[in-house]
Amino acid sequence: SKMTYKTMNFKPATHEIKFTKLFINGEFVDSISGNTFETINPATEEVLTSVAEGRKEDVDLAVKAAREAFDKGPWPRMSGEARRKIMLKFSDLIDENADELASLEVIDGGRLFGQVRYIEIPASVETFRYFAGAADKIRGATLKMSSNIQAYTLREPIGVVGHIIAWNVPTYMFATKVAPALAVGCTMIVKPAEQTPLSSLFLAHLSKLAGVPGGVINVVNGFGNTAGAAVSSHMDIDAVTFTGSIEIGRSIMQASAASNLKPVFLELGGKSPFIVFDDADVDKAVELAVVGNLMNKGEMCIAGSRVFVQEGIHDVFVKKLELAVKGWAKGDPFDLATRHGPQNNKQQYTKVLSCIENGRKEGATLVTGGRPFGNKGYYIEPTVFTNVTDDMSIAKEEIFGPVISVLQFKTVEEVIKRANATRYGLASGVMTKNIDIANTVSRSIRAGAVWINCYIALDRDAPHGGYKMSGFGREQGPEALEHYLQLKIVATPIYDSPW
Ligand code: ADP
Repeated sequence: SKMTYKTMNFKPATHEIKFTKLFINGEFVDSISGNTFETINPATEEVLTSVAEGRKEDVDLAVKAAREAFDKGPWPRMSGEARRKIMLKFSDLIDENADELASLEVIDGGRLFGQVRYIEIPASVETFRYFAGAADKIRGATLKMSSNIQAYTLREPIGVVGHIIAWNVPTYMFATKVAPALAVGCTMIVKPAEQTPLSSLFLAHLSKLAGVPGGVINVVNGFGNTAGAAVSSHMDIDAVTFTGSIEIGRSIMQASAASNLKPVFLELGGKSPFIVFDDADVDKAVELAVVGNLMNKGEMCIAGSRVFVQEGIHDVFVKKLELAVKGWAKGDPFDLATRHGPQNNKQQYTKVLSCIENGRKEGATLVTGGRPFGNKGYYIEPTVFTNVTDDMSIAKEEIFGPVISVLQFKTVEEVIKRANATRYGLASGVMTKNIDIANTVSRSIRAGAVWINCYIALDRDAPHGGYKMSGFGREQGPEALEHYLQLKIVATPIYDSPW
């Protein structure tokens, strides 16, 4: 996942925005109210376009279409092989339209073209292919019963799924949530984040071209407390997946509890430790601390935002880190040499700046960055704080921005304790050549991922998800399929068994 794409003078052919309505039952339609809302380019603060604003009544329509497609339509009933074929076609279409899709992510989300086009979209395409391959491999088990009853399990699709998506990596999130649900035969409603609706709509269009039947994937743009809440509280949605903040995750569970007790799967971010021991390759550690915090302008749930550095290597690490961060290239998001873009939206921009202000006030040392820059767009300088202590807000709260906090430590036991002293538990990094330290730390960290001498080792085959308040459920890997499958036991007596 190293960013190694080459610099070239690429200009995308088109920024044309073709899809701005809701996608329900295989058609692009206006919202029932006729309302729309604007979506903004965070690099210019200009309005890109207006998109249809779905609310409860539109979610109702989408659920009706998805229910019909589940109860009577071909999707859950066709062979796994037939679903796989359509999903592979969908994957190919995403691949073929990667330039256009990446351009939409750039203008809608302040993303970097190179990162989306050459890392995120290929990963999303491969996610669809991976789960396409699972579509014909869903099986149950034969049970060894204690009586003369023979029994087996059936894995059935759970039904209509609601996917509530965040704004930081929308295409990848669409893939990780939609692909496994599609593979097992579910139908679904996607509620993209209001800040970034355009990629989901384009993907919906491609799904139709690929032959995904109407009603199987529906996309309802809208706000969280209207469209999102209508999904989580719906009586006819059978499961909800969500990626976002702890607060909203909590309200989604509450909405489920208050409605039909649908299972929910939550990915709620983190405050992941990135631990650098004295014996680590310091240049590699610096590079990974930078990528693990500044990639996607720090808008990553897996950011290694608490960089613990052992005292013997601390000062040299900080010197090199400062240099690396100062060299993190700002510029045109379409230029493949650019590494740093604007924050996704104004609210987030304001939040990150206030986190930085708090870091200053609480006494951390600002090594570089810390200010907004440019005369338009939500740009914040890549920022490094040192002398950060565990009680400071920058060491406790998820910033979701380009801010690196360096904390110093002495011993293995100490750093394990401090690394675990958080309500989060999404990921972690360990830099050391000592196998015993690496083993001890990996077994001790309460988090869904431990990356040793690497960082952001996400993969199709690697289940990703949280411990503690980072949520529950796993995306990617065969484990992801479990959320979309029901388990049924079929039992019947055998009266004349010879065994
Ligand atoms: P952030 O705080 O990072 O913007 P959120 O957790 O607020 O992220 O939002 C992530 C997704 O959840 C978005 O699609 C948003 O519209 C949706 N959302 C926000 N509030 C609610 C809610 N009360 N119920 C359901 N979905 C919501």
